[in-house]
Amino acid sequence: MRAETMAIFRFPKSEDQNVPSENGSIIAPGAFDALLKLQATLDVEELLAHFISLITAELSIDGYSYIGPQGSAIHCQGGHTNRHALAYQLMVEAEQLGELLVYRSRPFSEAESMTLEDMLCLVVYPLRNCLRYQEAIRSSFTDPLTGLGNRSNMLPQIQREISLSNREARLASLLMIDIDHFKNINDTQGHLSGDQVIICIADIIRRTVRDFDLVYRYGGEEFAILLVNTDGVRAHQVAERLRKNVEGHTCRLNNGRSVSPTISVGVSELERHDTPQTLIERADRALYRAKSDGRNLVRQEKF
Ligand code: GH3
Ligand code: MG
Ligand code: MG
Repeated sequence: MRAETMAIFRFPKSEDQNVPSENGSIIAPGAFDALLKLQATLDVEELLAHFISLITAELSIDGYSYIGPQGSAIHCQGGHTNRHALAYQLMVEAEQLGELLVYRSRPFSEAESMTLEDMLCLVVYPLRNCLRYQEAIRSSFTDPLTGLGNRSNMLPQIQREISLSNREARLASLLMIDIDHFKNINDTQGHLSGDQVIICIADIIRRTVRDFDLVYRYGGEEFAILLVNTDGVRAHQVAERLRKNVEGHTCRLNNGRSVSPTISVGVSELERHDTPQTLIERADRALYRAKSDGRNLVRQEKF
């Protein structure tokens, strides 16, 4: 495939001027309707599908791909790639909006690339709105200290797992985790060091579980893990592996010192009549037993 070098499409362009059209409007005929359509969605994929249908009315293309700005994990595509591509790095007022490529078998002419650039003017602000909206949604479900899901994200996802398990006999288990004697760490090392220990444990959890397991910061120094497709026996093994990984790890602090925390873990397996609350309550009771039995332990509570 021969991609043209990536052009930077920066909007507004410094030489942009609002040139009145023949009917006196500064907006070209048809552009107004197109703009309305593009502004009617906050979903990036839907927006690009609208935009591509506008492009294909003007230019013949075989497909497109879009990669959102760094960290957004947005990637969409349609049609198929081909030998020639027009590639744009999209920017609005220094804000990166990702990269758009359109493909076809024949080279694009200068006039065609100018037409596409005119049309990009219509999409950049709606695209920025979509990206900002999706980022706001993402951050409302994310714990800022650890980057894990937060508690408000957890109940709907457990509810979803319960619905799936009722429909498809899927298994799931929950781990509730609490750092042992965390107050001591705060008291002896300071609150900021305590925060670093929370980040350190979150990293160990991430490295221990599978990518598709769902990990949350449940509260101050408490975490929860929803293990999908996992029965209670296997969940107990995962909990034990996690407990050992934390026990064997030393967290380095910014003050030059280091601490070796331990965790206690409560395990519950999803049962037929569970609600999110009953699943959490059992894991909580198991965690309480792990604490009262001496800490740095895993305990499981049956239905
Ligand atoms: P246990 O072994 O029984 O769990 O003892 P613990 O000292 O860990 O007791 P507990 O779980 O009740 O204490 C939690 C402490 O965590 C209390 C609070 O001051 C601290 N904490 C809560 N949120 C944060 C946070 O975001 N950062 C820091 N550094 N500390 C926090
Ligand atoms: Mg606690
Ligand atoms: Mg604790």
